[in-house]
Amino acid sequence: MNSWFTRRLLKWNSDENHRQMPWKGEKDPYKIWLSEIILQQTRVEQGTAYYNRFIERYPSIRFLAAAPDQEVFKLWEGLGYYSRCRNMIAAARSVMQEREGIFPDHYDDILSLPGIGPYTAAAISSFAFNLPNAVLDGNVFRVLSRFFGIDMPIDTDAGKKHFNELASEQLDRKYPAAYNQAIMDLGATVCKPKNPLCEHCPLADKCVAFIQGNPFDYPVKSKKIKRRTRFFIYLLVEIDQMIMIRERTSKDIWKHLFEFVLIETDSIPDEPDLMSLIEKSGINRNEILEISTSARFRQQLTHQEITGNFNRITLRKKRKPLPGYQWEKINELKKLPFPRYILSYMEEKK
Ligand code: SF4
Repeated sequence: MNSWFTRRLLKWNSDENHRQMPWKGEKDPYKIWLSEIILQQTRVEQGTAYYNRFIERYPSIRFLAAAPDQEVFKLWEGLGYYSRCRNMIAAARSVMQEREGIFPDHYDDILSLPGIGPYTAAAISSFAFNLPNAVLDGNVFRVLSRFFGIDMPIDTDAGKKHFNELASEQLDRKYPAAYNQAIMDLGATVCKPKNPLCEHCPLADKCVAFIQGNPFDYPVKSKKIKRRTRFFIYLLVEIDQMIMIRERTSKDIWKHLFEFVLIETDSIPDEPDLMSLIEKSGINRNEILEISTSARFRQQLTHQEITGNFNRITLRKKRKPLPGYQWEKINELKKLPFPRYILSYMEEKK
């Protein structure tokens, strides 16, 4: 017998929840997987356009697995968290090579694919195959911790275990897909992080946080994310409609994306310091015809803050590219994937 919590949630789902998403009700595990990977760390409004583009270009896993890496990265451009994209390509190829193109239909097999964690495996296995696996993501942590008034930190092993068990206990074993969809939708549209709509919430009558008047105290986290600041000074070295770029290949952020000549420093340099940094990078001041510096740019990633500026350098005459870099036609840049930090500069310059 389902708990009061589960019954209320399912009733709300059938009566009132009309959240429209293109993948809702979808049974094709490939499409569900794609939507879940795109939506990790991405809002539904932004993710929907990407999802539609991916499905149009790669209607089945066969097409995605066969696509060149660079083409997939280009389509992913702007979504950030590029390891998701790398893992997605690897998972598609693994399904083609090891499973004859058939997406696995057991939780553990789904979980074994690159880039798939317990949440995504539970979502795919319940939505596509109606398996009784409860999802546990940020929305679910929030709803459960508020409703049951649980102040165990969600980022500890003990907390995760507790919430996992609780989520599993609440799951409707007969209709796991409907239950999972309902709790995720309630978290996204009613029990929102900053302004929960408690007056319209089907769970309000027995919600501990609502009764106590403190929904904002939940969920509890034990530690705050520490971000390190990195200073990226980019040189846009240009001549005759050509520009110096390279693909990032090291084990760092933005692997496989392209960038201009990068100098990483400890601070944003002033003018005299900038010139000596440029010379250290291998470009002599006598080679420079003109230089102009942008305003400061900033982007916050999960564990890093990137800040710096872009320096457009026009050379007097063509030279050999710096080691590791290559010349590229400026009007071909739009075919290559760049990190959002660089794209925001390029868009401003249009
Ligand atoms: S009553 Fe408020 S805090 Fe409780 S589950 Fe509903 S929206 Fe969240």
